[in-house]
Amino acid sequence: MTTPGPSTKSVHLTEEVDPTTRSVVPPIVANSAFAYPDVASWRAVALGEAEGHIYARNSNPTTDHFEAKVAALEEAEAGTSFGTGMAAIFTTLQALLRPGDRVVTVKDTYGGTYLLFTEILPAWGVECDVLDTDDHEAIEEQVRAGCDLLYLESPTNPTCKVLDLQRLAGAAAEVGAVTVVDNTFATPINTRPVTLGADVVLHSASKFLGGHGDVLGGVAVGSKALVERIYGLREIIGTGMDPQVAALMLRSLKTLGLRVERQNETALAVAQHLATHPKVTAVNYPGLPTHPHHDVATRQMDGFGGMLSFAVEGGFPAVETVLGNLRYAYLAANLGQVETIAGPPATTSHVELTDDERAIAGIPEGLVRYSVGIEDAADLLADLDQALAAV
Ligand SMILES: *Cc1c(COP(=O)(O)O)cnc(C)c1O
Repeated sequence: MTTPGPSTKSVHLTEEVDPTTRSVVPPIVANSAFAYPDVASWRAVALGEAEGHIYARNSNPTTDHFEAKVAALEEAEAGTSFGTGMAAIFTTLQALLRPGDRVVTVKDTYGGTYLLFTEILPAWGVECDVLDTDDHEAIEEQVRAGCDLLYLESPTNPTCKVLDLQRLAGAAAEVGAVTVVDNTFATPINTRPVTLGADVVLHSASKFLGGHGDVLGGVAVGSKALVERIYGLREIIGTGMDPQVAALMLRSLKTLGLRVERQNETALAVAQHLATHPKVTAVNYPGLPTHPHHDVATRQMDGFGGMLSFAVEGGFPAVETVLGNLRYAYLAANLGQVETIAGPPATTSHVELTDDERAIAGIPEGLVRYSVGIEDAADLLADLDQALAAV
């Protein structure tokens, strides 16, 4: 037998036929509590001596399925799921950090995450060093200066920088620091950070994993020991995923490979097309040989992802004109869904930040962030051409 590929895992893994109904699709278990025939068997489950579930804030068979599937796709031992991506990120950080600990991270993290490191965690006595995203030497130096947790994101939002995960996770391992990677943009179809040395991998499942823009969710995967620590906090504070959402996520995961491969292909075609357009002054896409991190991206990624950004001659007013004229792109804050979505960073990835904070974080304003959907590539190219012609 071959080792199953990602799409085989997406479709088959953990999908045991339900013995009572023989349903091919696992039934959605939507309840609060699980009943037992006697106190002894209930107690055995409660003490962890027997398999089973007690109360849905702790665990549920439908969310278990989702967690096992994402863990398999990420080549991780275990996973635990959340109501949103931010719930996954904050619960993970809260579970792994203590006052006095030191975090090393980069400027180009998701806007909400950036605020955790610049405002929320420092208020709880966690020192956070937020460094220039491109500067691998400076990141390594600060990790060696003393670090408990290294937090990375790749490719980044909205400029699509790619970090060398193997190199940086290696530096963190040398000083005994835990490496946490937000893999939302790459998806496990394109990059599996655990195989590059990451300890915990996070997702906003609201994006590519869910893929249809109709649910919010998050997930953390990694070693059994680390996931147990994260789960230990999650089950107490109640940041877990709802089983109805998990069922929608499971349905979405079945087409993750199909969607992301299509999005990779179309995003590359769009990036190549825009790179030759006279009104486009810059295109950020790791699949272009001109991208500063193209070599790392080629080594680390099986595909370059469905996200890109570009700058238009004429600055922000031109960006507004292009966005206003796009026909096959929703002007919205989400990304990674089957519909193409576009917007400026000020109203998408970094909407939580003030103008000043965006400037400090180095987030350019005159950009169009473009999340490629599964529409026909020719239609998207023609749409971009007519929108740019209006500038
Ligand atoms: C959207 C996003 C998040 C936050 O996820 P929510 O599900 O919206 O809470 C975190 N990281 C990245 C990279 C994202 O794009």
